Amino acid sequence: MASFEVDDEAEYISGTDIKNWVYCPLIVYYRKVMVLDLKLGSQQEEGKRKHEDLQRKIMRRVGIALRKRLPEVKEKVMNQEIILQKERLRGLIDIVLITNNGEIIPVEIKMMRSNRGKPWPDHIYQLAYYAILLERKTGKLVKRGYIYYAEEEELIEIIITNHEKTRVKRIIRDIRRMLKDERPPKIRINPRKCTGGCGYKWVCDKLGHNIA
Ligand code: SF4
Repeated sequence: MASFEVDDEAEYISGTDIKNWVYCPLIVYYRKVMVLDLKLGSQQEEGKRKHEDLQRKIMRRVGIALRKRLPEVKEKVMNQEIILQKERLRGLIDIVLITNNGEIIPVEIKMMRSNRGKPWPDHIYQLAYYAILLERKTGKLVKRGYIYYAEEEELIEIIITNHEKTRVKRIIRDIRRMLKDERPPKIRINPRKCTGGCGYKWVCDKLGHNIA
């Protein structure tokens, strides 16, 4: 849910870039190489406005859900920004929990529904990316995180293993390569994803990438 504005955004990789790459790498190319504007449909714009209005209410609900599920939490940090200058990585984590025994747990809030009770893959890897940032920052192993799907008030635990972290590291390398070459990533487009929610359907339509 959290977002940030930076001057040198193109140089830095963010959690949103990781999420977008897993959803469709062309989004990251349009955003960071072509620097094109997002164009959301009227439905998505309306949804965005509604979500902004609901934000405070949702934060209260997340707090209740987290207290129920994780009574061992002693500290909760909202909108935790992490910047790793050397690696040019950054992230704005909705909530970071610290438990009584020092475990660190990232929480990501999504203003949408889950995939029928399961997390969406792009959200899992965004969370794994935050786990990596937190590990670099604190030197502690991050083994799990949570995604809160606000539309259905569903809090889902995600076990973050080396498998997810390795894939995130590969994605970071692939994004860096794309930024250097300034060439669109070679992908097989999944037309089911091309409904316009990505904000770049207008470009794909123009360039003939979109087959939906
Ligand atoms: S319209 Fe489809 S192919 Fe084009 S950027 Fe969006 S999700 Fe990717």
